[in-house]
Amino acid sequence: MTGRGFKPLSLDEIQVFEAAAKDATNPIRTLTARLLLHTGMRNGEFNHMRPWWVLEKNGKYRIDIPRREDCVGGAGPAGFGNQNHFNLNDRGEPCSKCRNKSHREDNRWTCKTRSSDRTIPINSKQEDLVDLLKWWKNGYDYMPLSHRSVNYHLKQLADAAGLNRKVTAHDLRHTHGTMLARMDWTAVQIMDRLGHGSIQMPRKYITYTAQASRDLVEKKYNLDSL
Ligand SMILES: [Zn+2]
Repeated sequence: MTGRGFKPLSLDEIQVFEAAAKDATNPIRTLTARLLLHTGMRNGEFNHMRPWWVLEKNGKYRIDIPRREDCVGGAGPAGFGNQNHFNLNDRGEPCSKCRNKSHREDNRWTCKTRSSDRTIPINSKQEDLVDLLKWWKNGYDYMPLSHRSVNYHLKQLADAAGLNRKVTAHDLRHTHGTMLARMDWTAVQIMDRLGHGSIQMPRKYITYTAQASRDLVEKKYNLDSL
């Protein structure tokens, strides 16, 4: 576990956060929050997403995350600092994450683990999310967000929703895992969808969700009085 730890949104928090996402006037902000919530994609996957990852078959949409992709997230040439005085805000060069990877072989983005290249079906009932994805796919060559700006947009939404907490891309990934667990997905199925390298985190989603629902029942019925 890295960073701030395990902080999925609760059911109530999901509701107000998603409402704020739908209300946002910036469609990229709405897309960011809703796609991350409903796919559990990693920040690095999302901000390297390209139009050809979004595929349609028989009216059903899915995201195919490849093993490798050209990074056009900005900044100078890999491994050489900024010796040619590139404008670091220019597009077309790898982002700082891709430049500074220890396992970097070239300037390309690579997915995190061996099990990370995967297909994520999008629920067709999420019609407005599918529409946003289509809008983005037809109008953009890349996701116009850095790792940091993804989390900036999510924080703005958390504030707009009146949530007294931070919400990061990773929190939404954990949240998606708990959503799957609540729908009785097995650990292996969760692992497949989220591209985990091990079964440990999917198991955590399942035990967390079971405990959270026990807590809810206890609160509702006050078991001490039964
Ligand atoms: Zn990159």
